Amino acid sequence: MNYKKAREHMVESQIMNRGILNEKLLEIMKQVPRHLFVSKSMISAAYDDHPLPIGHGQTISQPYMVAIMTDILELKGDEKVLEVGAGSGYQAAILSKLAKKVVTVERVKELAERTKKLLKKYKYENVKVIHGDGTKGYEKNAPYNAIIVTAAAPKIPNKLIEQLAENGRIVAPIGPRWHQELIRIKKTNGKLEKDYFGGCIFVPLIGDD
Ligand code: SAM
Repeated sequence: MNYKKAREHMVESQIMNRGILNEKLLEIMKQVPRHLFVSKSMISAAYDDHPLPIGHGQTISQPYMVAIMTDILELKGDEKVLEVGAGSGYQAAILSKLAKKVVTVERVKELAERTKKLLKKYKYENVKVIHGDGTKGYEKNAPYNAIIVTAAAPKIPNKLIEQLAENGRIVAPIGPRWHQELIRIKKTNGKLEKDYFGGCIFVPLIGDD
């Protein structure tokens, strides 16, 4: 398969066609080799328009979902970003090209270890992978200018709101098990403002908070 062509087609047909026109993000999605992050047996489907299993009952999100969540984080390049749910590491690789520093937390040890190795191997050097419960955030590097939660929860965990910097953004799928709403929260003068970006379905966020 010509992966470069597959990526270009993915970006044009799945992302631009659905109205995402953030040039920097589109360029990065044309460059980051998604097929290196999926399971070996799924390589031929790496650029298809849906999520894929990555083992342990978890998934790599649909390319469009990665694109819209990243787009609405409104990254300028100088941010410290927290991702909850590292999964395959693909979303973290995209974020690493759009922000200064990325901390990504994953609760499944094997996935955290695999992602750490992959990101190191392919030189995504500004990403730190932590094995742990991301509902607690990651206090050591807080506060974060942007937080992205890539697993579904009934509400945003309090710790994440606490660890969000002033003028920061949180993007997360919020709602019951089989249907969530993609929401963005912005913190301005300590106040939270919420915007809605449509329906989605994610695997559950499993944690203490
Ligand atoms: N962002 C990922 C990617 O690019 O492949 C996709 C993430 S997948 C949809 C959701 C991930 O969240 C799973 O890997 C799951 O194990 C993880 N997860 C669920 N609850 C978690 C928690 N409390 N802390 C950290 N990770 C969690």
